[in-house]
Amino acid sequence: MSNQSVAPLPSLATLSIELRPALSSGGPRRFCSVSASVMENTRCFANRFSDYKGALLPGQGGEAAVPAVVATVDKILKKVPTDISDCDGGLYDGPAGVAYMLYHVSECPLFSEHREVYLKTAKQIIDVSVRYVDAEPDKNMRAAFLLGGAGIYAVAALIYKSLGLADFVKPLTKFRNLWEVCAPINFLECGSDELFVGRAGYLCAALVLKQKLGIEILSKDQIKSICQAIIESGKQYARRKRKPFPLMYSYYGTEYLGAAHGLSSVLQMLLSYQDMLSGAEKDLVWQSVDFLMNQEQNCNWPAELGAIIERENELVHWCHGAPGVAYLFAKAYLINKKPQYLDTCIRSGELVWQKGLLKKGPGICHGVAGSAYVFLLLYRLTGNSKYIYRAQRFAEFLFTEEFKAGSHSVTSVYSLFEGLSGTVCFLVDLLQPDQSEFPLFSVFV
Ligand SMILES: [Zn+2]
Repeated sequence: MSNQSVAPLPSLATLSIELRPALSSGGPRRFCSVSASVMENTRCFANRFSDYKGALLPGQGGEAAVPAVVATVDKILKKVPTDISDCDGGLYDGPAGVAYMLYHVSECPLFSEHREVYLKTAKQIIDVSVRYVDAEPDKNMRAAFLLGGAGIYAVAALIYKSLGLADFVKPLTKFRNLWEVCAPINFLECGSDELFVGRAGYLCAALVLKQKLGIEILSKDQIKSICQAIIESGKQYARRKRKPFPLMYSYYGTEYLGAAHGLSSVLQMLLSYQDMLSGAEKDLVWQSVDFLMNQEQNCNWPAELGAIIERENELVHWCHGAPGVAYLFAKAYLINKKPQYLDTCIRSGELVWQKGLLKKGPGICHGVAGSAYVFLLLYRLTGNSKYIYRAQRFAEFLFTEEFKAGSHSVTSVYSLFEGLSGTVCFLVDLLQPDQSEFPLFSVFV
C-alpha cells in the first residue's frame, strides 16, 4: 500500500502449516493452544522500517486503500463457503466472521457505493450460519461468542438492523435467551468464563450489541448475575488451587493470561460492566488487574500463569501476549486514568513494533493485523500520530514480497480471526483511526 504498489494481498494458500489445532473431544475447541507452535525459532520478520519522524506515509489514504480493500473483499467472497455443512467455526474462522467483516466495511462511508451489495451478501452468509446454529444440539455451543451461536446471533442482529429490517429482533431474542445457558457457575466443564465460549464472551457480545444498536440488551439483573458467576467462579478456583491472588481461571486445565482464553479478557469484561458490581466485587477485580500487571516480563506476558518468557521465542500475539493484554490495561486506564495503565499499554506497543511483523499470516488473532491494531488502540488513547504511522507501516508490510514469501498459510484464508477478513477490518479502520477498534472487542464503550 505504498505509492508504488497497490496490489491485492498476497496469496496465502501455498504453504501448509499447523495453524489449526486439533479438535478437542467432548467440548468446545481450543484455539491458539500454546504448544501448537513452540518449535518455531523465529516467529516474526525483522522490522526494518524507520520509526516515525513527524510525517505519516503518503499514498495510504482512501484513494489507494479503497481499491485494495475492495479487491481483497472480492477475493474473500470467492473463498467463503456458502453451504450449511461448512458453517463451523462461528465468528472466529467460520463464514459468520466474513459476514461481520462485510457489515464493518459497509458502515464506513468510504465504501458507500458498495454498502448495499455488501450488506445483502452479509445477510445471505449469516442466514446460513443462523440456520446452522439453530440446529446445534449442544446448547452450550449456542451460547459461545466467537466459536458458536451467541456471536452469530449478535452479528445477524447487526446486519438486519443495518438493512432496516424489523426482523433484527428475532436473532436478538435468540441471543438474549442464551443468558440462562451461561448463568450456572460451571456450565462448561472445560472452563466457563473465557472469551471464546464462556461467559466473558457472552458479555462481550452484549457489549458490542449495546454499542452498535444503542439499546439495552440484557437487564441489569441478568448482567449482574453473569458477572457474579464469573467472580464466584474465579474466587473458587483461586481458593481451590491456593493462588496468592483473588481471581483466577483455567481453560482445559491451563491458566491462560492472554485475551484468547485467559484472565485478561475476563477482567476486561468485568471492568466493562463495573457499574454492575458491588464495592467488594470491584475491589477483587482491580486487585486482579494489578496482579496481572505485575506479571509483566519485559513488556510481555507469558501465555500461562507462572511461565518464564524466552526472549527468542516469545509469543507476541493478540491471543497470547501483550497485543491482547493491552486492551485490559487500556480499559483500566479509560476508567480511572492512572498513568501506570497507560504506560503498560505503551510498553506493549513498543514490543509489538519490534516483534509484531508475525509470520503466522495476515490475521488479527496471531497475525500482522492483530499487531497493528495495538497501534490504533494507542493512537486512540494518546492521540499521538506516531501510532498511525506504525500501523501504516504494518499495513504496507502486508503487501510486500517479503511477507508473501515468508508467511505461513492459514487454513481458512477468508476468516475473521486468522485470515483476510480481519485484515480488511484493520485496513478499513486505518482509514478512520478515530473510530478504530479491534473487531468485536471494544474498550471505547
Ligand atoms: Zn491466535
